[in-house]
Amino acid sequence: MNTLPEETLDPENWGEFRGFAHRVLDDALDYLAGVRERPVWQSVPEEVRARFTGPLPREGEGIADAYQAYKDCVQPYPLGNIHPRFWGWVNGTGTPLAVLADMLAATMNVNAAGFNHAPTFVELQVLAWLKQIMGFPPQAGGILVSGGSLANLVALNVARSAKAPFAVRQEGLAAHPRLMVYASTETHNSVHKAVELMGLGAASLGLIPVRDDYTIDSTALAAHIAADRRAGCIPFCVVANAGTVNTGALDPIAVLADFCASEQLWLHVDGAFGALAVLDPAHRPLLAGMERADSLAFDLHKWMYLPYEVGCTLVRSGEAHTAAFTSQASYLHRLAGGVASGPVAFADYGPQLSRGFRALKVWLSLKAYGLDKFARLIAQNIRQAQYLAAQVAGTPQLELLAPVPLNIVNFRYLVRGLHEEALNDLNARILVALQESGIAVPSSTVLHGRFAIRVSVTNHRSRREDFDALLAAVVRLGEELNPRR
Ligand SMILES: *Cc1c(COP(=O)(O)O)cnc(C)c1O
Repeated sequence: MNTLPEETLDPENWGEFRGFAHRVLDDALDYLAGVRERPVWQSVPEEVRARFTGPLPREGEGIADAYQAYKDCVQPYPLGNIHPRFWGWVNGTGTPLAVLADMLAATMNVNAAGFNHAPTFVELQVLAWLKQIMGFPPQAGGILVSGGSLANLVALNVARSAKAPFAVRQEGLAAHPRLMVYASTETHNSVHKAVELMGLGAASLGLIPVRDDYTIDSTALAAHIAADRRAGCIPFCVVANAGTVNTGALDPIAVLADFCASEQLWLHVDGAFGALAVLDPAHRPLLAGMERADSLAFDLHKWMYLPYEVGCTLVRSGEAHTAAFTSQASYLHRLAGGVASGPVAFADYGPQLSRGFRALKVWLSLKAYGLDKFARLIAQNIRQAQYLAAQVAGTPQLELLAPVPLNIVNFRYLVRGLHEEALNDLNARILVALQESGIAVPSSTVLHGRFAIRVSVTNHRSRREDFDALLAAVVRLGEELNPRR
């Protein structure tokens, strides 16, 4: 037994591994620097897909071969979101500096649970900065999470604990009247999922109609809540959208803040990408009232351009935040000194215990570039969206399908006299052909029954000429695919 040689995953020869690592980094930087020259996206060919159905390796093939498989089969077939002409869904671009940040985080292999180590102080610093950016007080609660979906779940869980008129953590929901959350019909489906994950049931999400500009109808909201109260339900939370995913619509947050204050309701703001528009002085007024919210969810992997995954929940009342998550365990006691003497236990602010060092890329990026750089890039993206909207409006074959308050443009190719169903079909075909051409990747949505080509600009690599190329391609494909031709 004791004659077995001891093993490790460290390299036998660090010099050799260093050479390999330098080559990998060079390849990665070449890949980033050359992104504009490649197609935005291409489908994964059958023979490449087949390479992912191999048996579980019992014996390793070695790092050189494994890396070659990555280079052959993975790296050439990206989603495309690092490309200057990717504007699908709401995706961030990533940054070269953050590549290094994530490498450094993995080097330290940080477990950011809140121990007495420097990463705890990095995260606390990042949270302090984010509170300041969003107009939240220093004593607010906050935590970095995987993204907006988790950020919404964390916030709604705090709202429920704080507002339920019974001890919901202890008693659960059985034998109590229905707790109700309200949000507009344009609200992201992560809010629907959060309501279900909390065990409230989908029927506990009151969906409120929107006005023509896709913002919540606050008169309908008040009526809906009054009716629910009469029916014996317990309204506890309103979710305001700071930038809906379909059109970028911003609910009137200040109006909702007044309403929630008078009705004793929790106001949560889903600002996944839109909250970051607060950095642009010209658009900050659209977010007025956000600083009065009880909680706020936003992403840094969308409009801060950082690599996945990093989002944030802020909660105005730090006490309410920890009251929803703190859970005692003998093996997690904080001690007066040593490793377990950190100033915070992040597990008191969310569902995770072990956590990655997602704070490092935020901290390094803000230190290296400064907040104003990000503010200028966000303003640039909004200007680009407005440029695109103006070009669409000025092109007779194209039709703008929704207002453009921020960075999202919805439009379609128009053939006069073609009925709506045929137009939808034509525009879906144009979008697929556009993506398959590799020229650009917008995504789609449906607005008032109309299929929209949807361009969402959270991309620090896009230039004006990229939007010109998009429209030229849409017009050309529209002519080619027009069934009347
Ligand atoms: C993207 C998005 C979310 C979900 O965030 P993830 O980071 O994808 O989990 C929630 N709300 C809105 C408005 C979004 O745009």
